[in-house]
Amino acid sequence: MLRQRWLGRVPYVEALDLQMGLYRGNLDHLLLLEHPHVYTLGASANADHVLVDPAEVGAELHRASRGGDVTYHGPGQLVGYPILSVAGRRGGGMADTVKYVRGVEQLLIDVLTDLGIAGTGRLAGYPGVWVDPEGPRPRKIAAIGVRLSRGRSMHGFALNVAPDMTMFDHIVPCGIEGLGVTSLEAEGLSVEMAAAVDAVFERAAVVWGADGVERLDVTERVATGDLAPFTRGLGAGAVVAPDDHMSVETRVEPDGGTVVEGLTIKKRVPGSRMAKRLSEAGVDGGLEIATRKPEWLKARVDMGHRFRHLKRTVRSFDLSTVCEEASCPNIFECWGEGTATFLINGERCTRACGYCHVDTSRPEPLDAGEPERVAAAVDQMGLTHVVITAVARDDLSDGGAAAFAATVDAIRGRAPTASVEVLISDCRGDRAALDVVFDAKPDVMNHNLETVARLQRAVRPSAGYARSLAVLARAKAAGLITKSGLIVGMGETAAEVGASLADLAGVGCDIVTIGQYLRPTTNHLPVHRWVEPSEFAGYVEIGESLGIGHVESSPLTRSSYRAGAAANKL
Ligand code: SF4
Repeated sequence: MLRQRWLGRVPYVEALDLQMGLYRGNLDHLLLLEHPHVYTLGASANADHVLVDPAEVGAELHRASRGGDVTYHGPGQLVGYPILSVAGRRGGGMADTVKYVRGVEQLLIDVLTDLGIAGTGRLAGYPGVWVDPEGPRPRKIAAIGVRLSRGRSMHGFALNVAPDMTMFDHIVPCGIEGLGVTSLEAEGLSVEMAAAVDAVFERAAVVWGADGVERLDVTERVATGDLAPFTRGLGAGAVVAPDDHMSVETRVEPDGGTVVEGLTIKKRVPGSRMAKRLSEAGVDGGLEIATRKPEWLKARVDMGHRFRHLKRTVRSFDLSTVCEEASCPNIFECWGEGTATFLINGERCTRACGYCHVDTSRPEPLDAGEPERVAAAVDQMGLTHVVITAVARDDLSDGGAAAFAATVDAIRGRAPTASVEVLISDCRGDRAALDVVFDAKPDVMNHNLETVARLQRAVRPSAGYARSLAVLARAKAAGLITKSGLIVGMGETAAEVGASLADLAGVGCDIVTIGQYLRPTTNHLPVHRWVEPSEFAGYVEIGESLGIGHVESSPLTRSSYRAGAAANKL
């Protein structure tokens, strides 16, 4: 199966971490994307071929483990990374690399013909695809730089659709003096990036997709003005919860437990801009707010002795738990099993994801005493597995990473037998900040993908599909057990969830949680559908057949649900 992914604009180092993660796996992916301005130096590059300080022209500079010299990547250039198991590789050495590169060249030559530019081809002695290769003025339109080892390919090609061609003036492109560089636009063709993406995916399906093809596309970002009221900082709407427009029917079980039976609520409609944004992502309608929750979304309430003891302890240490903040339906079960999730770094988030009932006002300074208090509470509560999470703190230079590390260390000091899981934001993709958390060696490193590629912009506009996969890949490379989570019922299809599971498996994710979306307020995303329990069961089979060690998937599953059991299983 060839897994084709259009990822939009992705910073070079994040794409590199993602590539490395997929390269270490055994699934076949073709990633297509654009990079912000960047110059990369291949293994045999001559640094003198970079003629200016890249920062002066707004570009980054990175070394790359690929063949070739210096090249430029930037907006308007279609970059492709085929991460494949290349047949006949063992012992083939150079011969197979040449054969593979010839294959990529031919694919691009065919794509260019499909896009309306004839007469492109190879220039002897110079890898890549050229316009007028036999003529007086050959000019390169696509560069190729690959790495093949252990039967796997990475890096790839860069096809110039309509980039800023002046950026090539600041280097000796590919180390080749005296030969030009061109683009479809420079050759007089106006081709949309989307059309180039489709053309490459179609040709690649023929070349590498003999066992089938599966495509996922992120939806492109648009102006902030298009974002939903909650995401634009206008705060939550009316709470979709018992107190104001919902009445709760409960039933007392023979063993004294209380079950939440059903609910009725007043009719409300989602904001017009949110509806427009969702429809851009192909999601229309959604369930009426008055729709009754199905049988399987009933939570059991068991306010037993252990639960009340833990609640008092949390209060006594002046701490917050996500379990309580998010009104998690599993709180009774988890606390009963000795697992709890602490919210550190304050309760005010610098983001506003469309499904999350969080306070988005200005965050407060960090509390230096909090790590020790959490550790003391863990010790006193006798927790066996503790999850540490936080809102996104984009206002902090390290995104709150140091506080995570300090809390892990403090718990290790006070409760050495407890296993520690961290559930972190993406730290805006900042490798140094992420490494601070990874170096604290949590037992489980959790970062949620949350939803499928197509819905990322609608659901978590401040985050990104490729960025989250890159965070997980980098954590895996650091030798950690990694975990991620998906929320379903927001407009995705089951096939898209399956494809996202493949991407998580591709970057070596060990544990995945999948649960039903429940709408917190009228300003949040509408529930698009109640996902059937059988579909959740199907995701366990799919995920574990792809090599994910444990998939916890059910309507009431949340990121930390049964977290201790999952960690112990691995
Ligand atoms: S970043 Fe996390 S805490 Fe903040 S809004 Fe999104 S899901 Fe909620």
